Amino acid sequence: MSNNKPVVYLVGAGPGDPDLLTVKALRLINQADVIGYDRLVSEPIVALIPHGTQRVYVGKAPGKHHMGQDEINSLLLKLAKSNRKVVRLKGGDPFIFGRGSEEAQYLVQHGVDFEYIPGITAAAACSAYAGIPLTHRGMARSVRLITGHCRADQPLELNWKSLADKQTTLVFYMGIANLSQLREELIKAGLDASTPAAAVENGTKSTQRRCISTLDNLATDIQAMSIRSPALIIIGDVVSFADELNWFTPQSDIKDGIEQQAAEN
Ligand code: SAH
Repeated sequence: MSNNKPVVYLVGAGPGDPDLLTVKALRLINQADVIGYDRLVSEPIVALIPHGTQRVYVGKAPGKHHMGQDEINSLLLKLAKSNRKVVRLKGGDPFIFGRGSEEAQYLVQHGVDFEYIPGITAAAACSAYAGIPLTHRGMARSVRLITGHCRADQPLELNWKSLADKQTTLVFYMGIANLSQLREELIKAGLDASTPAAAVENGTKSTQRRCISTLDNLATDIQAMSIRSPALIIIGDVVSFADELNWFTPQSDIKDGIEQQAAEN
């Protein structure tokens, strides 16, 4: 890679806990000329951006879009034209329901080099921090990552029959708003209403909450707990491990790892 050509680094920031950044992500955060970051990039990670580095918020909130994807694309291009090292920091993994591939395509089409740094996606991180293994010998032989939200709030049209498989763990991103429809369609397609199901809100963060329930009751239970986005839904027999393997205690007042290091700087 030439030293003078601008490069946009599409960097996965992981689910929230700054200790789950990759070493490469942290190195690029420290070396960038400018950093554009998303709503899903957690505050402790934003706090790691060095004081002198230009930062641009390019967040979108559900329902109210601060900046459309077209605007984000052209902003990235503009930043790349006036800076050498642009870091585009996105929650989780940029290529998993993150529109990172659209940004990469746009850059390629406009002659800008990019590099891609994967991050820990919500499915891997939230399940782990909720004590739920996504696969388990003899119980779950496959995992499906599914979006629970359609473009422009269209009704969800998924192949429900193919999803209703006892030996498959289903992980829904952006599924909270459509949970009642998910429940109805999956039960209609043959998945047992008593299948264990969970929602993990703010996974890996000091504010993480879990709701452990069943397919039948999850929608009611998350309403009772006022679970809000960002939250991940996990459906499958593996959710039955959630009590036995519940190792993570969220503690909002304790700083450790990288966060502690940032506070001491
Ligand atoms: N690219 C991201 C996903 C973006 S889509 C990734 O790879 O993780 C946004 C959805 O991801 C949210 O609606 C939620 O379902 C899920 N999500 C992301 N971070 C999360 C977190 N810390 N806790 C719970 N869900 C999360």
